[in-house]
Amino acid sequence: MADVKAAPYEMPVTGVHIWYYFICKREVWLIVHQIAADQDDENVDLGRFFNDQTYQRDKKELSFGHIKIDRVREERGELVIGEVKKSSRFKESARYQLLYYLDTLRQMGITARGELLFPKERRKEIVEWTPEAKTKLDKAIADIRKIARFPVPPPPKKIPFCQKCAYREYCWAEEG
Ligand code: SF4
Repeated sequence: MADVKAAPYEMPVTGVHIWYYFICKREVWLIVHQIAADQDDENVDLGRFFNDQTYQRDKKELSFGHIKIDRVREERGELVIGEVKKSSRFKESARYQLLYYLDTLRQMGITARGELLFPKERRKEIVEWTPEAKTKLDKAIADIRKIARFPVPPPPKKIPFCQKCAYREYCWAEEG
């Protein structure tokens, strides 16, 4: 009988992982390894913090698998999915999170265009799936899986986001 080898396990990567990957690689490791953040920190619920970057979802949202899309509409026969953000501060994270959704839809045979909406700034940005964007997305996903396999987290790097991060005590405790 032929040897049937099981496919190697691949950790599922989520929109939250993608979002944090473009902010702090150490945080990706801490989230994947479910390291408890500072219990007194208001950002302790990372899922809530992540969602707080997004406006309240409305009735137009679409959910499938791990994915929740804020806005969905059809424009000239094309599906348009939108992600509404409070500010453009974490734009790169938001862009790749949306690209990840576009790519997931594409794998299901659905072609769509993405829009990042920043109502407070009266701005809108188009996000389109391109082979170049897909290459960068795949690299990020592979890198997230690689980071997850590290026995210890990458060292902390001081960035402006640390001020808002639920892990700041964990990373910078000795600085007081
Ligand atoms: S405190 Fe800073 S270095 Fe530590 S996980 Fe958060 S963002 Fe990353």
